Amino acid sequence: MREQLVFLLQLQTSDVKVRELETAVNQLPAKLDPLRRDLAKLQTMLDAERAKLAETDAWRKGQQDQLDREREALKAAQNKLQASKNSKEFGAASREVENKRKSISDREAELKKVSAASAESTGQLETRDKDVGGVRTELENAEAGQKDQLDGLKAQLAEATATRDAARAQVDKQWLKIYDTLLSKKGYAVAPVIKGVCQGCHMALPPQLNNILARMESIETCPRCARLVYRKELLEPATPAEEPKPSA
Ligand SMILES: [Zn+2]
Repeated sequence: MREQLVFLLQLQTSDVKVRELETAVNQLPAKLDPLRRDLAKLQTMLDAERAKLAETDAWRKGQQDQLDREREALKAAQNKLQASKNSKEFGAASREVENKRKSISDREAELKKVSAASAESTGQLETRDKDVGGVRTELENAEAGQKDQLDGLKAQLAEATATRDAARAQVDKQWLKIYDTLLSKKGYAVAPVIKGVCQGCHMALPPQLNNILARMESIETCPRCARLVYRKELLEPATPAEEPKPSA
């Protein structure tokens, strides 16, 4: 029975290891999600700014076209001025020339302002674009590193699974059935007894049961938590390293 207990403990240890590695493998990819979200947010902002800039450029182009038309109109007005035959025509034509000049100069001033702002935005966009590129590179590097890490974890998991399967193969079917039931109901199946107390549920065992355990001729269960129990000192001679403390 001592041997079966040892195999059961090996099975339990390797089961824990497999579960830990499975969790690590499943959780690893999500670790980069915050960075992915940051990048997506930055990219959205950048796209919006770029769209705004394109809008401004389109508006500028429209203003430029209008300016061209106004210059044509100015020329026409100047021709009219030269061709004026009397002071009435001359007065009207000069006012028209004056108006066109003013309109052209206003539009030019406005365009100059908008062009300067646009140039500044373009500069800022380039900087922003570089920043976003930096975050993207950071993410790509992290993803590449994570892939290596994931491959490593998967290799460890495959090894741990093989160890677990080997341990399972050593345990008699009757104990496996009990082990699996306890595992699914209680989280783990085998608990040590220290100084007569089951470490699975912290109940003091009846003294006669503790004495039976001392003989190691049978595998017994805790009357309270039903876990398979063994006297720790018999299977794990005093080592300074403590097992993680199980709880009920
Ligand atoms: Zn117990």
